[in-house]
Amino acid sequence: MQSLEKSRLQEERQRTLDEIGRLRSYMEIGVEERIVDAGEDSVDAAADVYEREKTLAIIQTLENKLAGIDRALKAADQGSYGICEICGQPIDPDRLEFMPQTTTCVNCQRKLERQPKRRLVTVLPRDEE
Ligand SMILES: [Zn+2]
Repeated sequence: MQSLEKSRLQEERQRTLDEIGRLRSYMEIGVEERIVDAGEDSVDAAADVYEREKTLAIIQTLENKLAGIDRALKAADQGSYGICEICGQPIDPDRLEFMPQTTTCVNCQRKLERQPKRRLVTVLPRDEE
């Protein structure tokens, strides 16, 4: 039985969802206020773009994490939680403690990180005429 891991994952999933929701609504509110306030101040506008991209990057990271949590939950259902999905070796328990959503061992993770990354950040459509 791995119900402890599962409930940890579910808690983590909920926290991640809450955080994404919070950041998304922050971005929506923020943008509307800034369109009104920004005026001609290009320094502020540039800071806004920077802030926005930073927030988007955080959301992206959280969404990746969420996808990882979903995979880990599925693995828990199949009884393969804690097993690296790439090489099939057990994942270091310390690593699972630290990152319960991980589905790869540290060695495979390093290999993955060395691969060239696709650009995942999608810019939300903006109404600019
Ligand atoms: Zn591995």
